[in-house]
Amino acid sequence: MSADGVLAIVPAEVGDEAGAVGLSPVLGTLAALLADPRQAITEDSIRCLICAGVFRQLTNTHLRGHGTSASEYKGRFGYNRGRPLMCLALARRYAERARSAGLAARIRRRPILVDPELRKRGGARTIALEELLTRRDARRREILSRIAAQNGQTA
Ligand SMILES: [Zn+2]
Repeated sequence: MSADGVLAIVPAEVGDEAGAVGLSPVLGTLAALLADPRQAITEDSIRCLICAGVFRQLTNTHLRGHGTSASEYKGRFGYNRGRPLMCLALARRYAERARSAGLAARIRRRPILVDPELRKRGGARTIALEELLTRRDARRREILSRIAAQNGQTA
């Protein structure tokens, strides 16, 4: 069975009821989320990829309970370093609040100029799984729209 075939039998959608009905749905959900951690974050919830618990945000206190930190968690599961560990609604609210407070202008700095280690590496950085998946989705959308456009011309 191909890797895609294996992924196909794992439910892609996160069911909040999975935790209530037994262990194997949770394992199925976690397997799907490990393959694409972006799916653990929805409009109203974020699922912890360690305990499968569902929250509005993963607090430092919660992560400390698992013996980890936010940056370690993001690295371990392939999130982008700047990814807020909270549901989309909450992240949007914080971002709007920060914007209206002019926070971005105050904290904006260019790490490449400040950090000599980064400069030595020429700005190279590791690409998180999240970014790879997002790039792959963008490529697929582009190919699909190109195919649709071609079909439109020949039809
Ligand atoms: Zn947890």
